[in-house]
Amino acid sequence: MEAGTNGPPTNGLAERPRVRVAAREVSRRYGEGDSTVHALRGVSLSVVEGELTAVMGPSGSGKSTLMHILAGLDRPTEGDVWIDSTEIGKLGDSELTRLRRRHVGFIFQFFNLLPMLTAEENVVLPLRVAGESGDRRWVDELIERVGLGERRAHRPAQMSGGQQQRVAIARALVSKPTVVFADEPTGNLDSTTSAEILELLRHSVDAYGQTTVMVTHDANAAAIADRILFLADGLIVKDLGPSSTKEILDAMEEVSAR
Ligand code: ADP
Repeated sequence: MEAGTNGPPTNGLAERPRVRVAAREVSRRYGEGDSTVHALRGVSLSVVEGELTAVMGPSGSGKSTLMHILAGLDRPTEGDVWIDSTEIGKLGDSELTRLRRRHVGFIFQFFNLLPMLTAEENVVLPLRVAGESGDRRWVDELIERVGLGERRAHRPAQMSGGQQQRVAIARALVSKPTVVFADEPTGNLDSTTSAEILELLRHSVDAYGQTTVMVTHDANAAAIADRILFLADGLIVKDLGPSSTKEILDAMEEVSAR
């Protein structure tokens, strides 16, 4: 990864981190008139290359709305969003779909694997959809790395939740996307399996420089992040660096008491 190649020359002392996803003054309203819901009220943020950013906040604070907008699945009512330097508000729907295919990977709470495909077929699906054959060595490395070497030919129904989430992680990483969005990736797993999945996510950031944004309720999950954003009532109200589970729980309590 070459940090800083996108911006002006630096003084040579520090490389400028590359911004991979950004939002400027994003608001999102649902409905009209008296029943308008202000899900986001002017959120600005930059997601930096090779960082794992966690997004936390009470239920209804706007986490899902923000994630959908940053991933190009929804459009803001006001404000601008960039994915890999492209301002996505200027794109039509089919251009946006193409950009998402190339630049965005997803990991969901309920795995969202295709039941009729094997583990390996699920992993390579994003490449197939994009009409690419992919690099065989990379696909093999990923499948081994997520611990699925023995289960390539298994279908989702033949795998545990943890194994299915491993498939989903490999699927999200296979196209080396600009950014991976993980939506409550441990929300449906027991604590031991959650810890394994979090280790794998952290590894994908450290070993592959995979820029990742994770929405989570789980303070243990947020404790693996490089940065933790706290939303309350549609605004970012706290922005922490790497933090312990205890520090995160304290911050959550403070944010929820607002
Ligand atoms: P979180 O993910 O933090 O729980 P959401 O982003 O789902 O929060 O929701 C933020 C606010 O927007 C909530 O008040 C929610 O009820 C509202 N909201 C979300 N989606 C819709 C929708 N499709 N229509 C109307 N209101 C919505």
